[in-house]
Amino acid sequence: MPDVKDIISQIRTPLDSKDETLIRRAFDFAAAAHGDQKRYSGEPYFIHVFETAKILAELGMGPTTIAAGLLHDTLEDAAVKPEIIEKEFDKEILFLVDGVTKLGKLRYRGAERHLESLRKFFVAMAHDLRVLIIKLADRLHNMRTLNHVPAEKQGRIANETLEVYASLAYRLSMRKLSREFENLAFPYVYPKESETVKALLKQKTQAAEGRLGKFGHSVVKALAKEGLRDIRTETRTKSLYSLWKKLLRKGMDMEKIHDFLALRIIVPTVADCYRALGIIHAHWRPLPGRIKDYIAVPKPNGYQSIHTTIFTGDGGTLEIQIRTEEMHQKAEYGVAAHLFYKEGPKKAENGFSPLVWLKNLLPFAGSNRGNNATAKKDAAAEVPEWIRQIAEIQKEAVSQNEFLQNLETDFFQYRVFVFTPKGDVIDLPLDSSPIDFAYAIHSDIGDHIAAAKVNGKMVSLDTALKNGDIVEIITKDSSRPSAKWLEIAKTAAAKKKIRAALENLKR
Ligand code: MN
Repeated sequence: MPDVKDIISQIRTPLDSKDETLIRRAFDFAAAAHGDQKRYSGEPYFIHVFETAKILAELGMGPTTIAAGLLHDTLEDAAVKPEIIEKEFDKEILFLVDGVTKLGKLRYRGAERHLESLRKFFVAMAHDLRVLIIKLADRLHNMRTLNHVPAEKQGRIANETLEVYASLAYRLSMRKLSREFENLAFPYVYPKESETVKALLKQKTQAAEGRLGKFGHSVVKALAKEGLRDIRTETRTKSLYSLWKKLLRKGMDMEKIHDFLALRIIVPTVADCYRALGIIHAHWRPLPGRIKDYIAVPKPNGYQSIHTTIFTGDGGTLEIQIRTEEMHQKAEYGVAAHLFYKEGPKKAENGFSPLVWLKNLLPFAGSNRGNNATAKKDAAAEVPEWIRQIAEIQKEAVSQNEFLQNLETDFFQYRVFVFTPKGDVIDLPLDSSPIDFAYAIHSDIGDHIAAAKVNGKMVSLDTALKNGDIVEIITKDSSRPSAKWLEIAKTAAAKKKIRAALENLKR
C-alpha cells in the first residue's frame, strides 16, 4: 500500500512541520477522492498520483509541487470541485492542479485535437514551469505502465511521448527524464527499428560491459592510490532511441559510434575533476582530439563535465566523463536540480519564479539576458525565446498543418548551437545555414547577406552549420534575397522573411 513516508523520504531538503502537514493532507485528500477507482492495470487509481508525487520528490521539487502532484487528477478523474481544492489547500495549488488538468483534457483524437493540446501545453508552460514538470512526471508514470493500456492506444501515446515530452524534457536539460521517455516509447513507435538497434547494441555491449566492470575497478584503484577516494562511478549506456538517431546520421555504422557506452566518475570538487583526468591519462593513453573540457567551457545548455576517450589496453576505447556531484545532478535533472542548488525549493516556490531559473539554465534562451532588475516585474520577459517563437508561429500559421510542420522542424528536431563573433549563442535546427543564422539575428541582416564566414573562413551560403561554429555575416546594402535561399533555409522564420522580401522585390 502507498505510504506517504515513501514520498517524504525522497525529499532532499529538511521539511518543516508545515510542509510535511501539507503533503500528508494532499495524500489523504487524494486517497479519499479517488476512493476505489481503478486503472487499466487493475491497481487502485491512487497508486498513479502517489507515484507521480514520488517522481516529483525525486526530481527535487518542493512541497507545493508535490502536493499538487498528488492532487493532479482530482478535478478531472475524481470530480472534485475547484472551489474545494482552493478551500482545502490554496489558490496556488488550485492553479497548478488546474493547469495540469487543462493539459491532460485533450486525449489526442486525431491531428486537430493533438494540435490544440500542443498549444495549451506551451501556453501553460510559459505560465508556470511547475505545471509542465508535474505533467512530465504524470506522463512518466503513465509510460512506465503503458503495457496495461489497450494496444490501440499505446502507439499514439508513445508517439506523443517521443515527439513532445521527451523533446521537452531534453530542452529543459532533464536528461534522466528524456532518456527514460525515449527508452520507454521507442519500441512502441518503431518496433522494427528498435529491435535492429537493440541487436546491434547487444553485439557491441555484451563483451564491452563485462570489460567495463573490470576496467571501472582499475580506474577506482588508480585514483585511490593517488589519494582520490571519495568518488563514485556509474556506467552510462546511450538510450536506444538516441543511438538510433545517431546511427541514422552515420549510415547505420556502429563502428562510427564511440560513446554508446561511457564510464562516469563523480568526484567532490572541480579540482578533483582535473586531478582525476591527470591520473587517468597517466595510466591510459587518451585518443587525440577527444578530450573535451566542458567544465571550463560549458555547453550552451549549461552542461558541465570533462570528457576523454582512452585506450583501455585490451584493444578497445572508452569514453570517460568526469564531473562533480552538482554537475551530475544538473545534467540529469536539469531545471529541477538547478532550483535545488541555486535557490533552494523554498525561495523559488514562494517567489513563484520558476521561469527565472529556466532562463538561467538556458543561457541561450532569452534575448533579455542580464536584465535581472526588471525580470521579476515582467513575467512575459521571462519566457524563453523558443517558447515565445512557438507562440508567434501559432499566431501566424496559415493552416494548422503548417503550424504542426513548423513546430516539428523548428523545435522538435536536433538543434545546433552556434556563436556570433561577440559570443552570443544562437539556437538553430540541425543543418541550418548561414541564412538561417542571419535571419535569427535580424531580418535586416538576413535581407542583405553578401557573404558568410564560419570560424574565420569564407563559406558558401548553403553550408550546414555545426555545433560551436562562430558565424559572421557580411552584409551589403545592394544584396537581396534570391529564390534559391528558400531552398537553403531550414527555419520557418527565415523562409517567411525571404518570401516577404521576394514579394517586395516583385513589386
Ligand atoms: Mn495523471
